[in-house]
Amino acid sequence: MTDFATIRKEFPILDQRIHGHPLVYLDSAATAQKPQCVIDAEAEFYRTINAGVHRGAHELAARSTMAFEEARAKMARLVGANATEGGEEIVVTSGATAGLNLLATAFGNASLGRGGAAAKRFALKPGDEIVVSKAEHHSVLLPFQELAARTGAILKWFDLDDEGRIRSDSADEVITERTRIVAVTHVGNTTGAITDIAPIIRRAHEVGAVFVLDACQSVPHLKVDFHALDVDFAAWSAHKMYGPTGVGFLYGRRDLLEALPPANFGGSMVELAWMDQEAQYMEPPARFEAGTQPVAQVVAAGVAADWLMNIGMERLEAHEKTLTDELLKLGDIEGVRILGPRDNEHRIGTVAFEVDGVHPHDVGQFIDAQGIAIRVGHHCAQPVHRHFGVYASNRASSGVYNAVEDAQALVEAVKQVRPFFG
Ligand code: PLP
Repeated sequence: MTDFATIRKEFPILDQRIHGHPLVYLDSAATAQKPQCVIDAEAEFYRTINAGVHRGAHELAARSTMAFEEARAKMARLVGANATEGGEEIVVTSGATAGLNLLATAFGNASLGRGGAAAKRFALKPGDEIVVSKAEHHSVLLPFQELAARTGAILKWFDLDDEGRIRSDSADEVITERTRIVAVTHVGNTTGAITDIAPIIRRAHEVGAVFVLDACQSVPHLKVDFHALDVDFAAWSAHKMYGPTGVGFLYGRRDLLEALPPANFGGSMVELAWMDQEAQYMEPPARFEAGTQPVAQVVAAGVAADWLMNIGMERLEAHEKTLTDELLKLGDIEGVRILGPRDNEHRIGTVAFEVDGVHPHDVGQFIDAQGIAIRVGHHCAQPVHRHFGVYASNRASSGVYNAVEDAQALVEAVKQVRPFFG
């Protein structure tokens, strides 16, 4: 079994100095670095089998189609979804944001009567409810807020506790008989808190609502199984799980995907098109994949999925827990507040913090001067920052390549911030 110090060597980008210091990369929640096998897979695709998929009678097209579909199957295996025998449940998107917008648009289309009787289960009418949470990334909040505005539905949300956890214990009150869609994050991109989704899913299904999971910050860190969790839809991005940018995935339970009307229209998603009749769309997942797909990136994302499964998600989670133990020591520094749970039990990957009296951008620059990369700002999650009474924060986020020494370097650097800024 390869140890984590050896795995780190698979990331060429980490082997460099920044401002004279060895690079310490603690910004994986924004985007993760890529192992050599992923970088090679993309180049290899272009070198050997580049061709349009699902069309063309030539050998390269057959090979690229096979590689594309194999990648989809690998991704399905990573997240506990069906991959074969017409049971495909993985839709290729250009990222989590695109996947969530695809869903919101498709629900909106169903609300306009598109998709026939089967799509009625997704249709919203004035007074229906959509439930999100205050912990959401804007990629969840805004598409569903817009959907509510278009359909006359009411947007409601879960509140957070003092440590920024979604109040799952209020599921029975927040989700009502009028709720049609519930969309929440699996792991908060600011707090790192793992949402207790079971009571939310149970209640959503009790009232006949569709449950959507933002799995951006869980798929790279935890073993997830969407079938076992009874999730209806889930979206995530390849670039946060050591794959390429420009590609993401949307999981949908097979029967739901079959009932969902399309959101994007064009080539490769239609069976029959006429000038004077309605088009007949293809079965999922093709129905949701209009236009030319980022094939090389999907193939490389499949390699990333395989690579993660080889490491073992449980092993990776345990490794990241040891890193979080170190990162949480930030909270022991005078004047530093952790924005999220203080215990390591129900959190993963991300530790956000504020330094009393020092602007997050100043903190970020001070730390960067020591070769340490963290994120500063509101992390596309303004409501959760408002919940903590701040506009912005600093965020350290770990990945497979981080060592305990990386977290220790950050803690030592943050100790110097307040003395430096006086
Ligand atoms: N949801 C969460 C929790 C995220 O962390 C992110 C990325 O920052 C997104 C959604 C959006 O992902 P992308 O920008 O890759 O579409």
